[in-house]
Amino acid sequence: MKTKKQHSAGGVIFRERGGRIEVALISRNNHTIWCLPKGNIEKGESVEEAAKRETKEETGLDGELLQKINTIHYFYSSKKENLRFSKTVDFFLFRYLKGDIKEHDWEVDSVEWLEIEEAIKKLTYKSERETLKKAEEILYRKE
Ligand code: ATP
Repeated sequence: MKTKKQHSAGGVIFRERGGRIEVALISRNNHTIWCLPKGNIEKGESVEEAAKRETKEETGLDGELLQKINTIHYFYSSKKENLRFSKTVDFFLFRYLKGDIKEHDWEVDSVEWLEIEEAIKKLTYKSERETLKKAEEILYRKE
């Protein structure tokens, strides 16, 4: 089986509500998977631009880019394509500016604003939980 490289970009978009930090998570696969918004980097687009666009498309929310959070890596296979993917995803931190989660992508089952600690527990993938923990550290350092 051949291995193909894939590169995506995603975002942690946050807001403050009553002194608490909330982040937007998306659910997929009939609400069985909770994850951060992300997607492929298109031709001619920077990683940051892709992260912003994908965050907006999937959650319905516009944000101001603050900084990079981290890079995660995983492998997965597609039997249909007879390929193994070696995937890298760069995550960025966005401060919520405008938009509504009701405007989320039809490919996403739902979007929820969750308190950051609750969101860390809810995320399906360990690497994304680590991304959100890093985002939390960055945000509390800023306060
Ligand atoms: P993208 O959102 O980048 O366009 P996609 O929706 O096509 O990507 P992925 O979300 O990468 O695809 O999912 C492909 C496979 O990898 C699925 O089986 C998914 O469960 C798994 N997967 C997704 N994220 C992770 C992760 N952080 N760690 C491990 N496996 C993951």
